[in-house]
Amino acid sequence: MNNNNISELQEMLAKPQRVAITMHQKPDGDAIGSALGLYHFLKGEGHRVDVVAPTDFPENLKWIPGATQVLIGPNDTDRAKWIFDGADLIFCLDFNALHRINEFEPVVEDSMGKKIMIDHHLDPAGFEDLAFWDPEASSTAELVYRLISDLGKKDQITKEMGDALYTGIMTDTGSFRFTNTSPAVHRIIAHLMEVGVDVTFIHDALFNNSSVDRLKFIGHSLGNCLHVFPDYHAAYIKLDREVFKRFNLRPGDTEGLVSYTLSIKNIYLGVLITTQDDIVKLSFRSRSGVSSVTFAQEFNGGGHFYAAGGRTKESLAEVETRLQSLFETHKEMLKGVETARA
Ligand code: 5GP
Ligand code: MN
Repeated sequence: MNNNNISELQEMLAKPQRVAITMHQKPDGDAIGSALGLYHFLKGEGHRVDVVAPTDFPENLKWIPGATQVLIGPNDTDRAKWIFDGADLIFCLDFNALHRINEFEPVVEDSMGKKIMIDHHLDPAGFEDLAFWDPEASSTAELVYRLISDLGKKDQITKEMGDALYTGIMTDTGSFRFTNTSPAVHRIIAHLMEVGVDVTFIHDALFNNSSVDRLKFIGHSLGNCLHVFPDYHAAYIKLDREVFKRFNLRPGDTEGLVSYTLSIKNIYLGVLITTQDDIVKLSFRSRSGVSSVTFAQEFNGGGHFYAAGGRTKESLAEVETRLQSLFETHKEMLKGVETARA
């Protein structure tokens, strides 16, 4: 991590500050985990800290210590705006372009507070005053850990912080199996276990917490909504609006669904296509040298090499046609790398 930035941050934190922490809309385990890890750390350092989420987040993340303190912005926009307006420092976690915080973009942009971006997505937009950005990092939670460590405060990491940071690292590494899992990640995890993090409890809270409806929904999605294109080494799951009502889906219930496509032999790109309100949302996952972000960029999105997202106002049918023609355009890339096919 950049040492100049660390000393600048050290100066900013030298006396008690009013701090706002926010993260991308539809927060996932890393967005909430990194935010709450930082929240506990900065509170421990004597700052006044508020966490504002641009939208609600899944139930299975609400056990994380501090989760009940998170203000869901749209539930009280006035208070959210007041927090951003009055902040000395605004930490922007797990995103790097302000449109990712929806309606709070202008208020954060116009706030006099210094913006500190901590993130690992590709293509940062450059809105911040100070950046801790590393696209090689497994997760934003790993970056928060490294930041605390670079500030010389590693010994102050508590179980509360550990629970939050572990959740971020574990979810963004797919339980330590994606290519972003490094020896450094495992060393961090070892330390978090030493401060008391209970890994079985966290696994159960996150993954053994489904409703029966959700399991039936997964069955339905794989049974009736999966389209496989063996010649292109690609597959997608297409869900219409009705399915969300039919299975009583809650936020986060589609999490993990797209990964099933990559478990098919010789499939290197998987896409989940869902319809929400007036937009079609696309979630891309890939392996074996195939770039997800290349496809996401065609749908106003971005993300990481192997996991990315996008959205469009086109109809489902238009999206399908365009996606299939993109498969043709990127046919060579979709063949994957030799070693992975062996
Ligand atoms: P998901 O498919 O789970 O929504 O997103 C996959 C990854 O891509 C996540 O890291 C997410 O933050 C990122 N992502 C999703 N949509 C966008 C987008 O519109 N822009 C950028 N830059 N990243 C995105
Ligand atoms: Mn992340």
